[in-house]
Amino acid sequence: MAGLIRRSDIDEVRARVNIADIVGDYVTLKGAGVGSLKGLCPFHDERSPSFHVRPGVGRYHCFGCGEDGDVFTFLQRMDHVSFQEAVERMAARAGIELHYEDGAAAPSDHGTRARLLAANAAAEQFFRAQLAEPGAQPGRDFLGGRGFDQAAAERFGVGYAPKSFDALKNALMKEGFSQDD
Ligand code: ZN
Repeated sequence: MAGLIRRSDIDEVRARVNIADIVGDYVTLKGAGVGSLKGLCPFHDERSPSFHVRPGVGRYHCFGCGEDGDVFTFLQRMDHVSFQEAVERMAARAGIELHYEDGAAAPSDHGTRARLLAANAAAEQFFRAQLAEPGAQPGRDFLGGRGFDQAAAERFGVGYAPKSFDALKNALMKEGFSQDD
C-alpha cells in the first residue's frame, strides 16, 4: 500500500518547481506584465492567448474557459496522471526526496518509482557534467565538428559517458543512492 505523501513535502515541491518551466514544455509563453506570462490555452481552442501563468504564486488561470490550478493540477489535466504521480514527477525533477505518511521503513512502489526517477535525474546531471571533464575531449570534438556548441549541448541535455561504468555508480552512491537503485 502506498502511503500519502507528506503534506510539507508537497508544499516544498510546489514551491521549488517553477510552474512556468513546466507549463512552458507544453505551451509557448510570453511575458504579460509584471509576474505574469500568457499563452494559448491547452484546455480549450483559442486564437488569442487568455491562459495566464503566474510563477510568483505558482498558479495558472484561463480567462477563456476558467481552468485554474497549480503545477500539479496542470500535469493531472495535461498528462492524465494522478495527483501523487504529478508530485513524484516534480519531486524527481527538483531533486527533492519525498516522505510518505505510512513511514519510510517500508518503501512503497511509489517511493521506489520516485527514487528511480531521482536516480535517473542524478545520472543525467552526472553525464552532463562529464562533458566538461578533460576526458570528454573526444566527445567535445565530435560535437564541435557538427556545429554543436556548449550552449546547444546544455539546452539539449547532451552528456558524455566516461569509459568506466563504475564512474556513474560511484557518483550516485556518493549522493546517497544504493547499489540496488
Ligand atoms: Zn482555456
